[in-house]
Amino acid sequence: MQTALEQYDPQIYELIRQEEARQSGSIRLIPSENYVSRAVMTATASCLTNKYAEGYPDKRYYEGQQVTDLIENLARERAKKLFGADHANVQPYSGSVANMAAYAALIKPGETIMGMSLDHGGHLTHGWKVSMTSKFFNSVPYQINTETGRLDFDLIRDLAKKHRPRIIVSGATAYPRMIDFEIFGEIAKEVGAYLVSDIAHIAGLVVAGIHKSPVPYADVVSTTTHKTLRGPRGGMLLCKEGLAKQVDKAVFPGLQGGPHMHTLTAIAVAMAEADTPEFVAYAQQIVKNARALANKLLEYGFKLVTGGTDNHLILIDLRNKDIPGKKMAKALDRARIVTNYNTVPGDPAPPFNPSGLRLGTPAMTTRGMKEAEAEQIATFIHEVAENIENEARIAQIGKDVLLLCSQFPVPEHFIIPRSNGNA
Ligand SMILES: *Cc1c(COP(=O)(O)O)cnc(C)c1O
Repeated sequence: MQTALEQYDPQIYELIRQEEARQSGSIRLIPSENYVSRAVMTATASCLTNKYAEGYPDKRYYEGQQVTDLIENLARERAKKLFGADHANVQPYSGSVANMAAYAALIKPGETIMGMSLDHGGHLTHGWKVSMTSKFFNSVPYQINTETGRLDFDLIRDLAKKHRPRIIVSGATAYPRMIDFEIFGEIAKEVGAYLVSDIAHIAGLVVAGIHKSPVPYADVVSTTTHKTLRGPRGGMLLCKEGLAKQVDKAVFPGLQGGPHMHTLTAIAVAMAEADTPEFVAYAQQIVKNARALANKLLEYGFKLVTGGTDNHLILIDLRNKDIPGKKMAKALDRARIVTNYNTVPGDPAPPFNPSGLRLGTPAMTTRGMKEAEAEQIATFIHEVAENIENEARIAQIGKDVLLLCSQFPVPEHFIIPRSNGNA
């Protein structure tokens, strides 16, 4: 395949090669990124990209679905087993569309949704002002407690009682602690709202039993497939049998046309990989690595939102270091440590130049790095902060990072043994 590409389009081939080098020659700490296995990559690049399969198994609009139906059924069954859900829709093109479909399945345009404010850790699609989710629906965002950095269920309950949303969204994109989906479920019941739980970031931790699952409490669970879950880029919705028809209709024909069958095929593979003891060990190591990284950063005097982490993610508040988030993220990138700048709760700085830095450990963990390397990475981050104006020093740190990377090759060919009894 690469030979054909190399011959036909050397320019693109060369750019892919450069990106491969970047991914292997840097420590990728963006908490939503990962490295997929060769098996997932192979399925993603398969002939299933050639097939239109509008509809659902046994209810398609085009012929030639002898194989696609089998694949989609496998993907659904594996997802249901993995998450303990009654129903799974594996067609959403991404987490964003999955969220839109969850809302469209449950309520009408103009009705009220209540999700976490983006500048407090929520996702765009939880009703942030520039997202269509705030234009098609009436959005009443909740904030977190700016003193503790944590969810404040008294505040959330009061706001819900005041505005009576039809949907409460629980879940986040920059929240370093466990989320109590059970309390969210109680509040939703109290005000007569549906609960949508968005586990895009933490799905891999949920599968491994490290983070409590929202499946028993939420009407609809939404997730991406490519973050800690380590599948291809895509989305997924889970729900009880009673909502299955509504959810399916909202995805197709409500919001999408034909599903991306190559992605769906790779999702099936990723679900098999996630159903193994090896995956559980990986997920546990993600959290161990995040703790080790957080503790070392605290030793170096970094301030962390909530003072630490329970999951895969760390939010540094850089104000005491007097370095803006963007400046720090760019300096780290020059030292081959890839992060993203981020708002911190109650950030006085503007969103395009916020005070925080967001880090996560899924990708480094997939490479096989453990606590010792996490601490080493904290030291690199500290050194960059201490030498923020010293380009020569930053370049030197980049060389040290490259050396560390070379000891943990990108697991291009890593193979997750199949569990016995996998569907
Ligand atoms: C990443 C993310 C999404 C969106 O996923 P895309 O695949 O980028 O559309 C939705 N919700 C949360 C909480 C996320 O972190």
